[in-house]
Amino acid sequence: MITHWISGARTAGRSDRRAPVYNPATGELATEVVLATPDDVNDAVASALDAFATWRSTSLSRRAEILFRTRELLDARRQDLAEAISAEHGKVVSDALGEVARGIENVEFACGIPHLLKGGFSEQAAGGVDVFSIRQPLGVVAGITPFNFPAMVPMWMFANAIACGNAFILKPSEKDPSASMLIAEILTEAGLPPGVFNVVHGDKVAVDALLTHPDIAAISFVGSTPIARYISETGTANGKRVQALGGAKNHMIVLPDAEIDGAADAAISAAYGSAGERCMAISVVVAVGAVADPLVDAIEARLDKVKIGPGTDPDAEMGPLVTREHRDKVASYLDVAADEGATVRRDGRDQHFEGDGFFLGLSLVDHVKPWSRLHNEEIFGPVLSVIRVDTYDEAVDLINRHEFGNGCALYTRDGGAARRFTFDVQCGMVGINVPIPVPVSYYSFGGWKSSMFGDTHMYGPDGIHFFTRTKVVTERWPDPATSSIDLGFPQNR
Ligand code: NAD
Repeated sequence: MITHWISGARTAGRSDRRAPVYNPATGELATEVVLATPDDVNDAVASALDAFATWRSTSLSRRAEILFRTRELLDARRQDLAEAISAEHGKVVSDALGEVARGIENVEFACGIPHLLKGGFSEQAAGGVDVFSIRQPLGVVAGITPFNFPAMVPMWMFANAIACGNAFILKPSEKDPSASMLIAEILTEAGLPPGVFNVVHGDKVAVDALLTHPDIAAISFVGSTPIARYISETGTANGKRVQALGGAKNHMIVLPDAEIDGAADAAISAAYGSAGERCMAISVVVAVGAVADPLVDAIEARLDKVKIGPGTDPDAEMGPLVTREHRDKVASYLDVAADEGATVRRDGRDQHFEGDGFFLGLSLVDHVKPWSRLHNEEIFGPVLSVIRVDTYDEAVDLINRHEFGNGCALYTRDGGAARRFTFDVQCGMVGINVPIPVPVSYYSFGGWKSSMFGDTHMYGPDGIHFFTRTKVVTERWPDPATSSIDLGFPQNR
């Protein structure tokens, strides 16, 4: 059974409620995870509050040293982490290794904390008056994370949060909770004092306890849009700083001049990688003009080459979905597609898999209507829609009028078109001939519209901003020459 991590040690907590954790490749129950009560959350907050008092005054060089060591231990245990992710999430181990690598980037960024926390200084703002600003930690902060990146998304949050001097409570997804426990062990081994990083497992009960706890200063959330909206509204109503990243529907526009094979390869990896369970997955290809027929043919021709299998199969490129319910929900969109008059060119349900794992084959749906459910709703599975339009303006309009604005991509060989798209598109992260434009850790990650609530993006410079508050000091010191005590200045004599 998976338990909490509070005050630097595993603890069962007080609840007798549990959630099942499955092996998605076999469909078997792998273990259970405890679901916290509000009292368990109170224990974690008390531990974090206690640790914060010392941690916030720990020197920057010491914090950087612990982060460096964390980075080294994470690097050494990449394989363990990837296998733990794969076992509960289902993604193939090679993909999970990629997740861990992208997560570690954030720890590397946070190692620069002595530089990142530097404030500003203005000498002689008025006669004899200087002004300076400093950044101070918020206190106890919490991160609530989704199932689809059980190691990377926590690293987006906690690396900067603890580097800035905060104490952190992680509430990971109850569907794949093991990676967070490995991370807790690694941080402890790296020398992080007990209570600076805690893990509380749970569901809405735990989340609500965090959202309303008076000693929690900020909430960092990543998950679906309805929950992100709830977190944002409830957290801010309780006086907390909140950043809440939500769902997505990411478009890839392919202009008529694009290189077809490159665009088709990109569509395959961006739509079906991790079984489409990525918030930056491409879920809609928008084919402009004459590119549509050859592009859709090229994508379809590649479908059979994608090997689907358990995450532990080194040849597999795509694993199962996270749960049976989610797999069935994703599959139901193929009936929706047919009802809405789209052309189901490939129905993933036609591919059969041995055993009881939560597998679904690749699906490709052509001639999707712009304002159908298939286009409006986040499916979060291996279903790629194609919308055909005549012009660039129609294509951009599809993105700009969509509820979500997380990521998008343009495929073209025309630099002017790329520049215009970058300017026109209403979306937080843009790829030019790059299908999944997740920013590197020294930029920040975040969408627009219903893909994000709050005004500060995640990790990178925005992460430092989110996890600190600024203080501005205005000071005046009398000229030493006017001192009545002899300080050694000639005028004192
Ligand atoms: P989810 O919203 O169901 O769960 C996210 C977290 O919220 C989990 O920790 C869960 O325990 C908690 N939660 C769930 N229901 C709750 C409720 N009613 N009240 C309070 N807390 C609740 O999301 P998920 O299914 O785990 O993850 C997939 C979703 O996350 C997709 O919509 C995906 O687009 C989104 N996502 C977004 C980003 C991004 O950066 N924008 C990144 C990854 C995932």
